[in-house]
This record gives sequence, C-alpha cells and structure tokens, in this order.
Amino acid sequence: MLNKMKPQSAVHLVWFKRDLRTQDHQALAAALASGPTAGLFVFEDEWLQSEDFAPCHLQFVLECLTELRASLARIGVPLLVRHGSIIGVLDALHREHAIHTLYSHQETGLDWSFRRDQSIQVWCRHYSISWQEFKQFGVVRRLKDRKTWPEKRSLIIDRQLIRVSGQSTLKSPWPELSGEIPIPDPAQLKPGAQKGGRTEAQALLCSFFEDRGEHYSGSISSPNTAGEGCSRLSPHLSWGTLSLSEVHASIRMKRSALHALPRAGKWLRSIEQFESRLWWHCHFIQKLESEPSMEFENVNREFDGMRESEFDETKFEAWCKGETGFPMIDACMRALHRNGWINFRMRAMLLSFATYQLWLHWKKPAVFLARHFVDFEPGIHYSQVQMQAGVTGINTIRIYSPKKQLLDQDPEGRFIRAHLPELARVPVSDLAEPHLMPPLLQLESGFQAGVHYPMPIVDPDESYRRAKERIFEWKNRSEVRKAAKRVLNRHTSNI
Ligand SMILES: Cc1cc2nc3c(=O)[nH]c(=O)nc-3n(C[C@H](O)[C@H](O)[C@H](O)COP(=O)(O)OP(=O)(O)OC[C@H]3O[C@@H](n4cnc5c(N)ncnc54)[C@H](O)[C@@H]3O)c2cc1C
Repeated sequence: MLNKMKPQSAVHLVWFKRDLRTQDHQALAAALASGPTAGLFVFEDEWLQSEDFAPCHLQFVLECLTELRASLARIGVPLLVRHGSIIGVLDALHREHAIHTLYSHQETGLDWSFRRDQSIQVWCRHYSISWQEFKQFGVVRRLKDRKTWPEKRSLIIDRQLIRVSGQSTLKSPWPELSGEIPIPDPAQLKPGAQKGGRTEAQALLCSFFEDRGEHYSGSISSPNTAGEGCSRLSPHLSWGTLSLSEVHASIRMKRSALHALPRAGKWLRSIEQFESRLWWHCHFIQKLESEPSMEFENVNREFDGMRESEFDETKFEAWCKGETGFPMIDACMRALHRNGWINFRMRAMLLSFATYQLWLHWKKPAVFLARHFVDFEPGIHYSQVQMQAGVTGINTIRIYSPKKQLLDQDPEGRFIRAHLPELARVPVSDLAEPHLMPPLLQLESGFQAGVHYPMPIVDPDESYRRAKERIFEWKNRSEVRKAAKRVLNRHTSNI
C-alpha cells in the first residue's frame, strides 16, 4: 500500500533528466524554496533500450553526474541514482519517504519519453502528487500560432538567471546509489569525444567569449577550422550542463563590452551569427514539439513512397563505415566515429549524400547519426534530417557534392589525410577522386584504387543527376505543393 498522505517530512523531489546542472535551474530553486529536497536521476530502461541510444551518451551523462552530485551535496541535496523504469523507482521512493511534489524540466523528446511522461502524469494524479514542470528551452507546448513564437521564446529565455543557493533541510538518510549503474563498454567509446560536466561547459563558454568566438563567422564551414571556431557547446546544451539563458546572458555581456571598443566588427558579426544559431536551436525543437510524428514520418506526407522501397543495405553499410569511395564523406564519417561530433555543413552533407546520391530513406541514417552524435538532441536532429532529405516541401533542395565540399573546405587535404591514412600516397590534386588517378601514377605511388581504398559505390555524376531529377519531380507535384502550405503554416516563423 503506497503512501497517499503527505507528512511534514515529505520530500520535494527534483527529477534530473537533460538538465544536469545546479545553477540557473528553475526546478531545483523551486524545490529548495518549498522544503526538504532530494535529487533523482534514473537510468531509464526505455532510454537505454531506445534505438537512438549509444554508449557515448551514457559516458557523457556519467561524467556530468559526478559533478552534479558534488555540486548538489554542497547545498545539502542528495542525488539518488537509480536504474530501471521511472514508475518503479518513484513507487519505491514514495513508499519509503513520501514524495510531496515532483519537479522537472519540460522535455521535448521522442515517442518513448512522451509515453513515459503520460504514465507519470497518471501516477502523480493517483497519489495526489503535483508535478511541476519548468521550461528548459524556448519551446511552447500546444503552440497555436507560429507568428507569436519569437516573442514567447524571448520571454522564456531572456529572463534573469537564477542563483541557486540555500540548504536542503532533508532529515532522513537516503541511500544515494542503489541497484546497478550501467557502465559503457570502453571498447565502444569514442577516443575524441567531448567530456561531460559543468566545469567543461563553463570552460568552453569562457574560451569562446574570450577568444575563440571572434573567428566564428569565418570558421564554421570547414572541418579543419570548425572544431576550434564553433562554440562546441552542443552536448552541454543537449544535456543541460549549461542553460540556454546562461549562453544568451553571455552574449549580452559580450555585446555591451564590444560596443565600447573601436574595432569590434568581426566579433560583432560572429556574435550575431552565433546568436541566430541559438534561435535555430529552439526553432527546430519547436517543430518536434508541434509535430512529434516527424520522428517516424515525412513531415509532408505526400513524399511517402518516394524512397522507402529502394533501401540498399550494402550502400547504407558502406556509408556507416566510411567506405563509400568518396573521400570527403568517408573522412567525415571516420571523424564522427572518433570524436562524436562534426560541424553542421558536414552533417548536412553526410545526410544529403545518404538520401540523394544513395537514395536511402532518411530514418535509418538518422538513427545511425543520432547514435554517433554525443550532442544528440531529438528536436534539432529529426527536423534537420527531414529538411536535408528534402521531405518537407518548404525548404530549398540542397544536394551536396562531396567533391565540391572537399575542394572548398579542405583544398590542402589536411582533413582527408588526418582521417583517411590509406590515401597518404595520393597527391593533393587527386584526393577528391582518387579512382581517377592515372594508372601509371598509381603504380609509381604504390596506391591502387579499389585495393587500398574503395571505388565509388555510385557514379558521382549520374547519382547526382538522377537524384535531382527525382526530387524536383516529386516536389513539383500538386499534392506535395498543397501539403507544403500546411507545413509552412505550422512550422515557420520570422526569426
Ligand atoms: C542532419 C543534422 C543533424 C543534426 N543533429 C543535431 C543534434 O542532434 N544535436 C544538436 O545539438 N545539433 C544538431 N545539428 C545542428 C548542428 O550541426 C549542431 O548543433 C552543431 O554542429 C553543434 O556544434 P556547436 O555547438 O559547436 O555549434 P555552434 O555553431 O557553436 O552553435 C551553437 C549552438 O546553436 C545550436 N545550433 C547550431 N547550429 C544549429 C542548427 N543548424 N540547427 C539547430 N541548432 C543549431 C546548437 O545548440 C549549438 O550548440 C544537426 C545538423 C544536421 C544537419
């Protein structure tokens, strides 16, 4: 029999999910202001078993939890870490300690977390426990009108930061760890992956606004410069070691400091571009919030049937392994395997190549990339995937040419050489198309296309031409254009 009464000592429970910090944390501040507080993190079975989950996510979260626990301890809040189903965990906690109120951030997640949230609502109602959810991003539930979204987002994000202080008055001792904590297999981790935790997040924020950010504007497109030039905040925003409001507050501070300087043009341009990306962050997550079916279905259903029946597993496997015979694709994929991150342009190129030149339906490539992005954020991910795959009907069609991207973004072949050692003996002038190296040169250099490196798995020109022909034939169909109007109304706003 579970506890339906709420004794004085009942606990205010903060359920940490993708908000692994203590500062600027609305849920934690509200709980502390209300009474004895404890924190909870659950390694949920549904998460660990979901198709998008990967060991690199678990590793990042474990690193965040170590710091979170220490930081919570300083304000007298124990962090209970459990493994299992959230309802089972809440049942057990409520039986032992009586939960007064459940606090968390509002999540825009995948189908599994949506269904999980529904079951929590039922559970809370049954035990008369109130569940207070706080907004983490500029995303609005049950948004009726996209036109008003920018103001709503500003109200959510451009608020005063919350300094969490005080001490929890929790009396009874709590077993912080109970049950088995999942540990990722070291063999499956990424040697170059970003580290989790608030300290890392703050260090990145500082270095970006002190120094690195000045060159943001000119360095985000090439994989040679993006690693240093981009903020690299994405995993920290996705797992909440930093709040979006904190990043915006840093922008405001930097801007006012720059206005006092005589030659700050480059910085200001960079800051403006960076800020627009933070708007995109919420804009894309809002799309999934407003239309959760985009995890499974084309946003514009009139594209249904365009690619589904032609899925070629062999081509998909070559793409996943970085063995397509297209050096820029393969180098990006191998970099991703190693680091769990690649810059935006290269992400777009990878997805575009899979869905156009290889004509693969987007779902399996999307899941594969989600498993390799340490920063996997469902709302950004699925919206971007659909846009890059050309199945919204409202976005410009972009079919990236891997050869052009190599020539534009890596003309000296530094990135290619770093990730494809098998091309070490290929001269720079042949790096974009090593299979076209004259046979005599291949003999002299000791590199043999098709032996040391795969021949292209599709004809570059023919696959590009055919994809272009097909996508425009579909896009111009009257039913697609009609359905695109609905997509436009539902998902676009002036930002
Ligand atoms: C197919 C595809 C899938 C993607 N999946 C994800 C994902 O799962 N998680 C994720 O965080 N980003 C995703 N992105 C967007 C983008 O590539 C990353 O946010 C960016 O590369 C992260 O690096 P950064 O933090 O250094 O970015 P910065 O350029 O420094 O940008 C700062 C922040 O703005 C946001 N942002 C930047 N670019 C975009 C964008 N194009 N759309 C929306 N938000 C953006 C991110 O939160 C990012 O951390 C995806 C892009 C594509 C094309």
